[in-house]
Amino acid sequence: MPWNFSAGPSALPAPVLERAREELLIRDKRGSCLLERSFTGAEFVATMTAAEAGLRELLAVPDEYAVLFLSGGAMAQFGLLPMNLARPGQPAAYVESGYWSGRAIEEARHFCSVSFAARHTVRDGVVHLPPPDEWRIDPDAAYCHYTANETAQGAEFHIQPDSGLVPLVADMSSNILSRRLDVSRFGVIYASAQKNLGASGLTLALVRRDLLSRSGSAVPSSLSYRIQAAESSRYSTPPVFEVALVKLVFDWLRAEGGMPAMEVRSLYKSDLLYRAIDDSAGFYRCFVAPANRSRMNVCFRLGDEALTESFVADAEAEGLFNLRGHSRVGGIRVSLYNAVPEAAVHALLQFMDHFAARHG
Ligand code: PMP
Repeated sequence: MPWNFSAGPSALPAPVLERAREELLIRDKRGSCLLERSFTGAEFVATMTAAEAGLRELLAVPDEYAVLFLSGGAMAQFGLLPMNLARPGQPAAYVESGYWSGRAIEEARHFCSVSFAARHTVRDGVVHLPPPDEWRIDPDAAYCHYTANETAQGAEFHIQPDSGLVPLVADMSSNILSRRLDVSRFGVIYASAQKNLGASGLTLALVRRDLLSRSGSAVPSSLSYRIQAAESSRYSTPPVFEVALVKLVFDWLRAEGGMPAMEVRSLYKSDLLYRAIDDSAGFYRCFVAPANRSRMNVCFRLGDEALTESFVADAEAEGLFNLRGHSRVGGIRVSLYNAVPEAAVHALLQFMDHFAARHG
């Protein structure tokens, strides 16, 4: 059986894809299917309402948060966050923790000044994330942004930060819906849908309603959090198929036991892999501090880096795909989102064991 360990767009649950195929082909009495009808019609509104209700149930989202379904990926939000949340001249605080937070900062700088609340360190080649209790957040900042899981380096914050009075903004593109979450600690949570949520092209945002008034008239209307919240994310045509797909993913997650079940599974899968790496006597080596290792993207290197290409090729020959590390990081990356079953991890562990025995 081929297994897909892609970092994104990533594996989706097979029952979700089957259901999506069925739903795509269902035509109503006027002869139109999901992709062919108005986004303001009763059928699509019901789908979007059910998607929102599913998410609210899964994450126990309080009423004082708007759920927005926005077009475009999380990178679009890198610029839209300062546009929607910072007053002219107001700085924003950022935690720099690796590749994706770096991209968020680079983009934010086009729209506001950036102050660093904390930065990651690399000591003896090992990545350490800055502990949230050591962050120093500018009290005048419009918000404090951090990347909850650095997809490229495989480093994750396991403690929910407390940013005091400055609204906390989290990019959860690569770990949303993988564990329980206290939403009330955040000003904004946003996530690209292409990993744990569904398909690319849609970004989900939870925005505390008191922050909506910050979106001024300088923000284009279809990109304004305030206007999209007031119009139930239907100010302009939303990505209808992607919204229908996340609804199916939420149905699947609820049937699988919701966040408590995903939390247990993600820890189980990633622990198995990290243990195999640490027990390999240096044949495989992880360069992320144990306290910061990601449950979603397990990144490691081969002790003899010259073996990396044959590791990838031999893995593919055994049906294990998309294991090459991020282009800026190299090495191996194993993405273990919710849809990747334990069986895939067992197949990979067996391959890693045999590969090490052949070359060790
Ligand atoms: N943030 C993080 C943490 C990501 O992993 C990614 C994509 N890998 C993005 C943002 C960008 O998402 P998109 O390409 O959908 O805009």
